[in-house]
Amino acid sequence: MNQTILLVEDEKEIADTLTYALSSEGFEPVWVSSCEAALSNINRHSYDLGIFDIGLPDGNGFELLKTVRNAGNDMPIIFLTARGEEIDRIVGLEIGADDYVTKPFSPREVVARVRVVLKRLEKQQKILEQNATTDNGLFRHLAEQRVVTYQASPIDLTRAEYQLMTSFIAQPGRVFSRRQLIESIWSSNHPSDDRAIDTHIKTLRAKLKTLNPHKEFIITHRGFGYSLEP
Ligand code: CA
Repeated sequence: MNQTILLVEDEKEIADTLTYALSSEGFEPVWVSSCEAALSNINRHSYDLGIFDIGLPDGNGFELLKTVRNAGNDMPIIFLTARGEEIDRIVGLEIGADDYVTKPFSPREVVARVRVVLKRLEKQQKILEQNATTDNGLFRHLAEQRVVTYQASPIDLTRAEYQLMTSFIAQPGRVFSRRQLIESIWSSNHPSDDRAIDTHIKTLRAKLKTLNPHKEFIITHRGFGYSLEP
């Protein structure tokens, strides 16, 4: 799937140039021209990266980034700054931007920065996942291999079952609500019915039963959710 980029820029000419450059490099840019439109888009979609202009008709790029960060969104951001906005640059990086490009720029330069930032993020993600091998004694989650093992043997799981197991193994004994489990599989605003989770738990239970028929690994907490036996 193409990586989506939210471009917040009020100058149509710049926006057109960047949109064209990003699309022809295989990205999927979405252009908005105000902070308000940017925030409403960010609330509805998850973007792989944002490119924010500083001077916008209803605010500035820094305020926009602050609002985005305060909402707990850590999407990578590249600022577009006017030439000589030295202070802006520093502030920009201090408040949690990932990079900046000075106007006037060549579209190729922007695309190159986008690639660098996304690559860096991918690397960090990998390191994070490598460290995320978790263990509850019987079950083990090997994040890098995307595998859950039982007494060192891999279990054949669907994507949803895998996500459920990784949540359970990370915090054995913790009771997860259905909503929390739904969010671990899909995203926070997935419209899925809470009962969808019961179906996945049922098939997961059946698989775990084959590992040890005498044991109930997943405990039901009536009216609330599920936990993995600690
Ligand atoms: Ca502007």
